[in-house]
Amino acid sequence: MHSLGSAVQMRAAMTYDYDLFVIGAGSGGVRASRMSAAQGAKVAVAESMFLGGTCVNVGCVPKKLFVYGAHYQEDFADAAGYGWEVEAKGFDWATLRDNKTREIERLNGIYASMLDAAGVTLYTAHATLVDRHTVQVGDQKVTARYVLIATGGWPIVPDIPGKEHIITSNEAFYLPDFPQEVTIVGGGYIAVEFAGIFAGLGAKTTLIYRGPLFLRGFDDTIRAFVREEIEKKGVTLRFDTQVNAITKNPQPEHGGAFRLTLDTDETLDTDLVMYATGRKPKTSGMGLAEAGVALGSRGEVKVDPYYQTSVDNIYAIGDVTDRIQLTPVAIEEGMCIANNLFSDQPPKTVNYANIATAVFCQPNIGTVGLTEAEALADFAGDLDVYESNFRPMKHTLSGRDERTLLKMIVRRSDDRVLGVHMAGPDAGEIIQGIAVALVAGATKTQFDATVGIHPTAAEEFVTMRSVSRQS
Ligand code: FAD
Ligand code: NDP
Repeated sequence: MHSLGSAVQMRAAMTYDYDLFVIGAGSGGVRASRMSAAQGAKVAVAESMFLGGTCVNVGCVPKKLFVYGAHYQEDFADAAGYGWEVEAKGFDWATLRDNKTREIERLNGIYASMLDAAGVTLYTAHATLVDRHTVQVGDQKVTARYVLIATGGWPIVPDIPGKEHIITSNEAFYLPDFPQEVTIVGGGYIAVEFAGIFAGLGAKTTLIYRGPLFLRGFDDTIRAFVREEIEKKGVTLRFDTQVNAITKNPQPEHGGAFRLTLDTDETLDTDLVMYATGRKPKTSGMGLAEAGVALGSRGEVKVDPYYQTSVDNIYAIGDVTDRIQLTPVAIEEGMCIANNLFSDQPPKTVNYANIATAVFCQPNIGTVGLTEAEALADFAGDLDVYESNFRPMKHTLSGRDERTLLKMIVRRSDDRVLGVHMAGPDAGEIIQGIAVALVAGATKTQFDATVGIHPTAAEEFVTMRSVSRQS
């Protein structure tokens, strides 16, 4: 990796149009561009589709707005126990969809202004590599000392008969009409989040997952708990099931525009088929391999711990490297790039341990640190597991049958908290604070020494005194 001192010194010796050319103005690319420009570098960024990338346009932001929208159905029903007479007259999809789109357009404008204010040149065009220092952007060729690949990913769906009938999350944000019946295939973040969105907004929703239990990789207790909670909300969960083919329904008058043939030999009619079966790094047709940039088997750009590719002036960050696909991770990696290429500070890399994450299903999941299975793999016989499963106070009056689960995994020998997991309202908000404690290396004794905030669900994390089991 190169640590090159000030950009001003560099420019004196350079023969390039830019110090840094960033391909992709998403979460990582925008942050790397702005921070590099702030260090004095001459920076350009190319964006072919939408400023702000996946997160702003077809990811975190519109998804969270839809999650808020979906929750109103329960909020109206819950109000009755508190004495409010509320009658929801109906849900208008076009209002939610178009208000969301207006907000996204506002954010697109803010991203353009931020880049402009930072002195970053924006090319609204597709970019490809001509060679290690030359980028073809639209009909221009520009040169740069460093090139940063921050092109993100794109949804992938399996190659099954009838796949032309499938939509992905990209299209779900712009549906012309709201479906009566939706079938979602997949068992990861997007599948469970959209199951909650569609069900909350009033669609009869089925989720089909190929394995025995969705959310592989999350803590097993949380997975089983969330399964029950999601089923209580009326979502049909079909595990150990695959879709073999999709056709147009020969009898749509009986409901469902499409017919799914399952590997159980059953058929399922539905109005909308959404696949959330993962995303693939966006690297094809960009001249990367031709320029010598090594790609992995899924097309991901291979990088060293400082985001350098196999070509020493070309770097890559974010989803295109196919590691942890989260916006704050891409942003932190972007910060590292600016530091490492254009400051005199020691090189930085992101600390990938204890990255907190949330799944905005209903109720939310928030999690940081090791799952019980991961902890067991390394520390079997040395673990205390604390669990608390309770009815949130709000539902004592609303009458809703929804519970909250908190779980903490502690290494007994040194009292270190290794993992904290929650499923319940605002779990993401709560776990963010807990993540600070885990990054700081908190012990169970320090959790216990923290005075709670009453009455909250989060106070349970500092009052869990009885070990649920030792493992
Ligand atoms: P992106 O944000 O995808 O940006 C890449 C940009 O590069 C795009 O704008 C693309 O148009 C552009 N581009 C690609 N190729 C070229 C080219 N050749 N020339 C010019 N431009 C190009 N993460 C969270 O942390 N929290 C969430 O709640 C969350 N929700 C999500 C919900 C959904 C439905 C999805 C799909 C993702 C979600 N994510 C979430 C993940 C998050 O959006 C990504 O991890 C993040 O956007 C990755 O940032 P990036 O900079 O690597 O790529
Ligand atoms: P994920 O990788 O999370 O999940 C993909 C799911 O599809 C898995 O359940 C997988 O099953 C299943 N699957 C894969 N291939 C097939 C197939 N051929 N047939 C049937 N099922 C299949 O991807 P997502 O698309 O849900 O999300 C992409 C990434 O975006 C996430 O990993 C996450 O990093 C990010 N994201 C973050 C969010 C957040 O922070 N809240 C929200 C949304 C997305 P199996 O488990 O068996 O492999």
